[in-house]
Amino acid sequence: MSLLRQPLLLLARSEKVKNLVTRMPVSAGIVRSYVPGEAAANAVDATARLVGDDLRVTLDYLGEDTLDVDQADATVHAYLDLLTALSARGLTRHAEVSVKLSAIGQALPQQGHKIALENARTICRAARNAGTTVTLDMEDHTTTDATLATLRELRKDFPETGAVVQAYLHRTEADCRALAYEGSRVRLCKGAYDEPESVAFQGRTDVDRSYIRCLKVLMAGQGYPMIATHDPRIITIASSLASRYGRGAGSYEFQLLYGARPEEQRRLAYAGETVRVYIPYGTEWYGYLMRRLAERPQNLTFFVRSLVSKK
Ligand SMILES: Cc1cc2nc3c(=O)[nH]c(=O)nc-3n(C[C@H](O)[C@H](O)[C@H](O)COP(=O)(O)OP(=O)(O)OC[C@H]3O[C@@H](n4cnc5c(N)ncnc54)[C@H](O)[C@@H]3O)c2cc1C
Repeated sequence: MSLLRQPLLLLARSEKVKNLVTRMPVSAGIVRSYVPGEAAANAVDATARLVGDDLRVTLDYLGEDTLDVDQADATVHAYLDLLTALSARGLTRHAEVSVKLSAIGQALPQQGHKIALENARTICRAARNAGTTVTLDMEDHTTTDATLATLRELRKDFPETGAVVQAYLHRTEADCRALAYEGSRVRLCKGAYDEPESVAFQGRTDVDRSYIRCLKVLMAGQGYPMIATHDPRIITIASSLASRYGRGAGSYEFQLLYGARPEEQRRLAYAGETVRVYIPYGTEWYGYLMRRLAERPQNLTFFVRSLVSKK
């Protein structure tokens, strides 16, 4: 792993640095390349463009670690407005939403689990009424059990709700076995947080090996794997596993982040693969941006240049 990964992930949680960095306009270079804008209209326009290129989308209203009930409610309303806007533009057949439970109350000191579950239900109901689905993003390892418990509750009424698992966690291969049942939508990613050795693989090779083991479990299973990676090697292996396990187009999908390898997104779609692009939007882009920089420190030069050139 890059030497810069850990410090950047620490900065992702620093209020001081956040205040400094977020004063730069969102349109500044690197931010704009990963986040289409702060308003729902920017995200919906980006969705329409990608859908026009035969891509699917999942939208994330940025925000996390909310410690305020009103803020959690505001996030729920942002999702409801987004779903209404997507529906009005006829986009819900191709666009779903991704939700972080910590943005809708999970981290609240009292009854966080219950509040997040109720809020997630409200979003799932609105998504279903709009003809689409919700996926629960996965956050740091201290929330994994609570998030999977909320997922199980939600799936009683909304079995279409997507799960996310992170290959860097030691537990994830077992989680994949438990989740690989019929109708179960499961996004497999490497994992974006700074996790201790006690719970997570630390080296790139170990994480990649774990990803492949998890992917085999999901591809061999009965569920719907959502392969979230930009890694060219893993994308190639996933395509050959699909053939090995007799999975046709539409029985799994690739997922990539907005702004990451856009030509590859289109190449895969052109080759007949289902490809979904994850679009984050909103004012709370700081933590998201820091995780992207931690993954790709070569973007740092670009980032620092846009910081110092700000008015
Ligand atoms: C759709 C989606 C949803 C996600 N949801 C979650 C979530 O809920 N929870 C969570 O913890 N994490 C999530 N992640 C982030 C994920 O865990 C990784 O941190 C992130 O995807 C980077 O890992 P990678 O698989 O792309 O491989 P890496 O090991 O970061 O990169 C491998 C190779 O991929 C290429 N590559 C990687 N990034 C880029 C880029 N930006 N531009 C060009 N090439 C690149 C390079 O060739 C690189 O060497 C999500 C990722 C995606 C794509």
